[in-house]
Amino acid sequence: MVGIDVGIANFLTTSDGRHYGTFNGKLRERHKRDREKRRRKAKLRKCLEKKGVPKEKLPSTSSATGQRLIRHVRQEINRAVNLCFVEHEGCRFAYEQLSVASMRHKARAMNAYMRASNLGHVPHQIAWNATKRGVAATKVKSAYSSQECSVCHFVDRKNRPNQQTFCCRVCGHTAHADINASRNLASRLNDKELRACQNRQEVKALLMRRHEQWKQKCRFLVVEPPVQLGLWARSETSTDVG
Ligand SMILES: [Zn+2]
Repeated sequence: MVGIDVGIANFLTTSDGRHYGTFNGKLRERHKRDREKRRRKAKLRKCLEKKGVPKEKLPSTSSATGQRLIRHVRQEINRAVNLCFVEHEGCRFAYEQLSVASMRHKARAMNAYMRASNLGHVPHQIAWNATKRGVAATKVKSAYSSQECSVCHFVDRKNRPNQQTFCCRVCGHTAHADINASRNLASRLNDKELRACQNRQEVKALLMRRHEQWKQKCRFLVVEPPVQLGLWARSETSTDVG
């Protein structure tokens, strides 16, 4: 079972820790140049409009380079998805159902960048590739998959100190953020309880219940000093209460 997380820094990240494709670097630079060009053109257009230049003589704001960039991004995504399937022969895939909400969350003040990176194309390409190869690829709920700790299920935005890093505030589990998310997605493949959730709130409640269960289980392993429990006299060696 392999989970696939979708993002900008890495188009695809698999739960076994591999990355495929990126929008950063060359594509990002091209996108920036294209945006500036379009902005300049729009300014010029307004200026000429004010001077009374007829509409049909105004410069167009749609750019050929922009269209080419979109095509190029798609090609890069297709290549990444293809390679991912080639390198995971015989695997079952779980990938995220990209929701508008999670996209917006991932975007944060970079919506144009988001549109240009064309992430919505990734799930389509995964589904298409899976059908073509006769491989099982299942969409799973992506709610909180980037904020949930894959070890103790604790959910918190602060588990992500930055875009790349996941560091659990409770158990201290640290990993590349995309790898942590793809592990969550992989484990959601056969998760009936989670699939039954109707909305994000229910998903969060379920995950936090699991976190409580994890804590209960851990009380028997790592335990508060017996002195605090008031059951034993002070002892340096006795730490086992279970
Ligand atoms: Zn944790």
